[in-house]
Amino acid sequence: MPKPLTDRFLGLKPSATVEMTERVRNARLSGRKIIGLSSGDPNIDTDPRIIAAAERAMRQGDTRYGPPAGIPALREAIVKRERDRSGVIYDPADVIVTPGGKFALLTALMAVAQNGDEVLVPEPGWVSYGPCVRLAGGTPVGISMLDRIDEAMLERVVTPRTKAIIVNSPVNPTGRVFSADEIASVLAFAERHDLWILFDQVYCDLLYTGEFPNPQRLPGGGERVLVIDSLSKTFGMTGWRLGYLALPPGLSKTILKFIQHSIYCVPNFVQLAGVTALSLSDELVPAYREMFRARLETAATRLSSVPGISCELPPATFYLFPSVAAPDTDVARRWLDEISVATVPGSSFGRGGVGHLRMSLTCSESELDDALDRIARVGIAA
Ligand code: PMP
Repeated sequence: MPKPLTDRFLGLKPSATVEMTERVRNARLSGRKIIGLSSGDPNIDTDPRIIAAAERAMRQGDTRYGPPAGIPALREAIVKRERDRSGVIYDPADVIVTPGGKFALLTALMAVAQNGDEVLVPEPGWVSYGPCVRLAGGTPVGISMLDRIDEAMLERVVTPRTKAIIVNSPVNPTGRVFSADEIASVLAFAERHDLWILFDQVYCDLLYTGEFPNPQRLPGGGERVLVIDSLSKTFGMTGWRLGYLALPPGLSKTILKFIQHSIYCVPNFVQLAGVTALSLSDELVPAYREMFRARLETAATRLSSVPGISCELPPATFYLFPSVAAPDTDVARRWLDEISVATVPGSSFGRGGVGHLRMSLTCSESELDDALDRIARVGIAA
């Protein structure tokens, strides 16, 4: 028997959301019909013009290695997107194209954490934050952020070993958007303790009401905020694997060495599809946004009328995070077994998520309607 695999891999928890998605996929293959409210994978077909751009590039022979940082046309389009959204003007040299937001996050963590360095991760928060911190060699420290960012609590958990804080807004799984005061307090905290901020904004285009405060636009933010973003959620491009990092000046040269030695580059034809996607943003995104907003409204109202469920309407994303007056894992298991509705227990997103379910409204409207009928019929009680 060869020697064991690394602790880094052996100690890794599986992704609760990916595992549930795989369970739904396999059950469907064996003929069982399950309504999937578990995966953050919108039922949006990629626009044919985006597909045509990739096809054209491939047919023209654009199938070789490309620049590790990404093609200039896409990096410039990303610079424009960031400028339009938050007024921050990045140098294209500080933008690195990655295969999805998840790899952007891992890349950022590889850059900031090692040898057990502590990284503060939001709870409830996306299931991959803690595991990615561990993969990078760091130690995740959960910080409760269900209702707000509490500066006093941040001060209690920070230690001399803390190197960075991950902030995600709009939040997966709650759909919350942090206020300008909260974002400013995180920046002030990071400045006091010389921390990096990894700011994950992959849902910022799916904002229905209010503003989208972000730390990179604040004075002093530009030098410590690593922005993580992706085209997955906004353009129905989850399977294309296209995301990016927008970095403080001076980091990209060092970080690029990791890209050179790992993935080398994102395929050029995928990036050219991304250029087309971003050029169609004003046309496509408002329609997707309206679709998800309407679904959230209907579902939040209907769920709240079920005894034992209380559901707030979030200002962003396609997620609902209702609280349930029963153990969340029991309710999720029961809905899957008895009414074939797949959700994710809130406890999978860390301690702060206990007592909630995450419901991703990414199925069709008729399936959603059906799922809500079934939930109303069985409720939450055992
Ligand atoms: N951040 C958050 C908060 C997410 O929910 C996701 C996807 N579920 C990602 C990043 C990464 O998405 P992708 O790798 O598809 O760009």
